[in-house]
Amino acid sequence: MQSLRIDLHSHSTYSDGVLTPAALIERASHNRVTMLALTDHDEVGGLPEAAAAAREAGIGFVQGVEVSVTWAGLTVHVVGLGIDPRNASLARALAGIRVSRGLRATQIAQQLGAAGIPDSLAGASRLAGAAAVVGRGHFARFLVERGHAADGKAAFRKYLGFGKCGYVAHRWVSLGDAIGWIRGAGGHAVLAHPYRYRLGPLHMHALLDEFKQHRGQAIELCGGVRANPLALLRLAKHFGFSLSAGPDFHAASKGATDLGDIPPIPDGAQRLWQDWEASRSAA
Ligand code: AMP
Ligand code: MN
Ligand code: MN
Ligand code: MN
Repeated sequence: MQSLRIDLHSHSTYSDGVLTPAALIERASHNRVTMLALTDHDEVGGLPEAAAAAREAGIGFVQGVEVSVTWAGLTVHVVGLGIDPRNASLARALAGIRVSRGLRATQIAQQLGAAGIPDSLAGASRLAGAAAVVGRGHFARFLVERGHAADGKAAFRKYLGFGKCGYVAHRWVSLGDAIGWIRGAGGHAVLAHPYRYRLGPLHMHALLDEFKQHRGQAIELCGGVRANPLALLRLAKHFGFSLSAGPDFHAASKGATDLGDIPPIPDGAQRLWQDWEASRSAA
């Protein structure tokens, strides 16, 4: 029996999610989530609103962020949990990433323009809401709105995914830097959705090995068909990582995993949130 329903990976309007931080907490409460982390892409601006709403709703709240990293030429994501968002080094680093995100958005718009789709930066910015910078999720929504793609997935498949006309090869920060900033801000470093990178076993081991060397602490169990809890547990045990868990919620949509929807945590796993759970019950 799992009395606790945790979700340690979610997005708000401060990055590419569609719910405001307060609305996200409301949905979490409705879904009977007992502990939630907000982990916007390279952004911590939504944390105060979410924290206040969580306090009101009686939900345990974990301050988080999802940092964009380039590793071996691939984009991978590192979630920081339990960070102090006011930590100066982390705040400065995230601000730098957002600047580079903004430059990338201009390039994406130029390339879409060259492919015959004008005004995408203005369109995506309008859809970005509270987000300080535009990400590919906002471009995807713009492309759907204009009828260029049937849904977000199709927008990535046709325009924004690797090698497509709106794709920009971008250099994010290094794995070691990302983990260092997160840990320096008192957070735990989690490798987000390891199976989404479609790495073969050798590359997966190389990534986890480097993640370990840089003092990464946990790997994430997410929802969906590629969750693979037992294989993930094997990797976690091999490298001495604990597990984190969250479905990476962006928006309620047909077929998408909802807030709090994670596969059952496999027996024998070291749970990253165990201590937080304990201190919450004690309080
Ligand atoms: P960015 O960090 O701006 O490059 O955008 C990455 C985000 O785009 C991810 O966090 C997802 O929200 C979204 N995304 C990436 N690939 C896909 C896809 N194939 N279908 C739908 N959304 C995607
Ligand atoms: Mn996203
Ligand atoms: Mn991610
Ligand atoms: Mn995410």
